[in-house]
Amino acid sequence: MKNGDGDEVAASDFFEMADDGADGPQEIAARLVEECEEFAHLKLGQPAILFLMRTVPKVKGGRWVLGEMCLPRFQGGLAPVGAWLLAKACGGTAPDFLLLIDREWWHGADLHRRRALVHHELGHIGHAKDKEGEPKFDDDGNPVWALVDHDLGEFNATVRRFGAWSPDIPAFVDALREGGGLS
Ligand SMILES: [Zn+2]
Repeated sequence: MKNGDGDEVAASDFFEMADDGADGPQEIAARLVEECEEFAHLKLGQPAILFLMRTVPKVKGGRWVLGEMCLPRFQGGLAPVGAWLLAKACGGTAPDFLLLIDREWWHGADLHRRRALVHHELGHIGHAKDKEGEPKFDDDGNPVWALVDHDLGEFNATVRRFGAWSPDIPAFVDALREGGGLS
């Protein structure tokens, strides 16, 4: 794989552990969980997140992927090896989530944008629900975590053409207005 400058990157350099200082993603996430009521389930359940900086940019559907919250699930015959390596790398216990952040973007972003990205990514962490729609816990009483999709999954072109055709869109516009993004 090649980095943004077109140089070949060794596998051992595909990722770096994120900086755990004051403006690093870990600290920003901890502060957001503390401050934001929408993250009450994270404050309570405290999912373990491993923060990694991606050195090789990822493009998906023509878009630069700035951040990616993932459940650390490995597939195929080598899945136990993947799980083992991850647990080893994390001092014995695999994390509940991996947050992959584009290193180049992160270094160019101010604190506001860093916080927005981490807030967005934390929004992907949800407490799994059982068949009755109740929060799910494992046998040890720990929350079962899941990935949550966006409130708004829509194309600009569709909105441009059809306006607020689904109820998600006015809700998003209200949130944008509250956040000061719309006058
Ligand atoms: Zn997202």
